[in-house]
Amino acid sequence: MLDLLLPQRCAVCGCGGSQLCAGCREDLPRLEPPHCARCGAPTEWPVERCRECAGRRLAFATARAAVGYDEAARRLVHAWKERGLRRLATEAAQLVAERLPPPAVEALAFVPSDRGRRLVRGHNPAERLALELAAVWELPCLPLLERTRGGRQRGSSAAERRTVRGAFRATGVAPRRVCVIDDVYTTGATANAAASALRKAGARRVEVIAFARALRRG
Ligand SMILES: [Zn+2]
Ligand SMILES: [Zn+2]
Repeated sequence: MLDLLLPQRCAVCGCGGSQLCAGCREDLPRLEPPHCARCGAPTEWPVERCRECAGRRLAFATARAAVGYDEAARRLVHAWKERGLRRLATEAAQLVAERLPPPAVEALAFVPSDRGRRLVRGHNPAERLALELAAVWELPCLPLLERTRGGRQRGSSAAERRTVRGAFRATGVAPRRVCVIDDVYTTGATANAAASALRKAGARRVEVIAFARALRRG
């Protein structure tokens, strides 16, 4: 509720009027095909596996994102996560729904935040995004995952690489086809750990959808 009362400033450029101005919304780098069929990395031509994911055991069938994680997307995600600006979660969900077709799954799940962060922020950005998308796509959103231990940092690639297998477990039996929602896909380690936990709990096919995706240079 609080963000309704605060003066509205664009999270990216700081101009007044709204939390994401029309110009900055327009300029967010939409991810376009061709891309890697598996991990969604932009590629020169359509490929089944790319440099980023070749040779990796991946528990998810596909990973997709709406925008590249550039400086503007980073600012938007930061304001949404750290300042709890709900309207930005709605904007992020709209951008995802504009870019990506609804996944052919029985339910959406989300990457749980670690307890410390949830306590500090009072919300889980991935959960908020999943709830917004569930409403748009008319799918149930289920709390299918929990962390096996807390205190891990997320957000940087180095930190994410430390997110080891077994970081999550399912809270019960998973539907056969599930889509895991996260705010940012960085190295894929988090998505993979989440998908792996759902597979162990009975899911046959796990898709991953994130708002933004880190782009490898070069
Ligand atoms: Zn702006
Ligand atoms: Zn790939």
